[in-house]
Amino acid sequence: MTRQFVDLHSHSTASDGTFAPADVVRLAKSAGLVGLALTDHDTIAGITEAAAEAKKLEITFIPGIEISAVPPIDNGTLHILGYCIDPQSPALAEMTRNLIDARDDRNPKIIARLRELGIVITMDEAVNYARGGVLGRPHIAALLIRKGIVKTVKQAFDEYLAPGGKAYFDKERLTPRAAISRIRQSGGLPVLAHPVQLRATNHAQLDRVIKDLLDLGLAGIEVIHSDHSQALVDKYTRLADRYGLLKTGGSDFHGGNKKDISLGTANGRRIPRKFMDDLLARAANPVRF
Ligand code: AMP
Ligand code: ZN
Ligand code: FE
Ligand code: FE
Repeated sequence: MTRQFVDLHSHSTASDGTFAPADVVRLAKSAGLVGLALTDHDTIAGITEAAAEAKKLEITFIPGIEISAVPPIDNGTLHILGYCIDPQSPALAEMTRNLIDARDDRNPKIIARLRELGIVITMDEAVNYARGGVLGRPHIAALLIRKGIVKTVKQAFDEYLAPGGKAYFDKERLTPRAAISRIRQSGGLPVLAHPVQLRATNHAQLDRVIKDLLDLGLAGIEVIHSDHSQALVDKYTRLADRYGLLKTGGSDFHGGNKKDISLGTANGRRIPRKFMDDLLARAANPVRF
């Protein structure tokens, strides 16, 4: 049998990707993938549309979400993916509402600070630009480019939007415990996204963080990701195997907001179908569209 591949980490216009949910599915099909998970930031708004398209094109679809949590290591980032969540779950609805509230608190601060710096972007403009999707910093980065303030997304983050940038504001985040338990309550499997972004400085520290997350109910580690070298893929694979955690992988596709990332490919690697099959086998609620 020829090898089959999937992508378990992707974003659509429901958050900060530039392809509509159905278009991400079409792209997955045309890239020859047999499975796709849509993992928009803080929302499942794209799932119904994506699931319908996946059904039509006969590709397996997994409803997912990506949540930012309080990082356990200074200057690091902790994102938790939730797979096979029940879209009807009240716990999920409450969590996404709270997460959007936290963004509604942060975004006007960014806009106001930019204005103090002489850069005029209105909230309406930003909301319109996000076209009903969850408004995130990549949208503001795109507007900064459009207005000729910066040339690249990287420059927008480095100078304005990332920690240390002139218009950086943090948003209220869930604790790792709350993020993991909310995903579990939603019938989902919590998976540590792109562990490289934790910024662990040594192996013992990484091991400690994984153990702590495991105690809180973590189900897996994203071993393949666009930010991971082969050495890191090998290292995270060993860690997952040591703790009996699921291994997942994805490109973290964002369309035009991250131009060097193609759906189905993560830093030159593809993601084996087995990752998806193992995930579905482990799910309490194996929603399979
Ligand atoms: P937000 O949801 O508003 O916190 O923004 C998160 C999004 O911004 C994710 O898609 C990240 O990949 C992206 N992002 C975060 N930091 C950077 C950076 N330094 N350069 C480019 N994209 C970034
Ligand atoms: Zn994103
Ligand atoms: Fe992420
Ligand atoms: Fe992501």
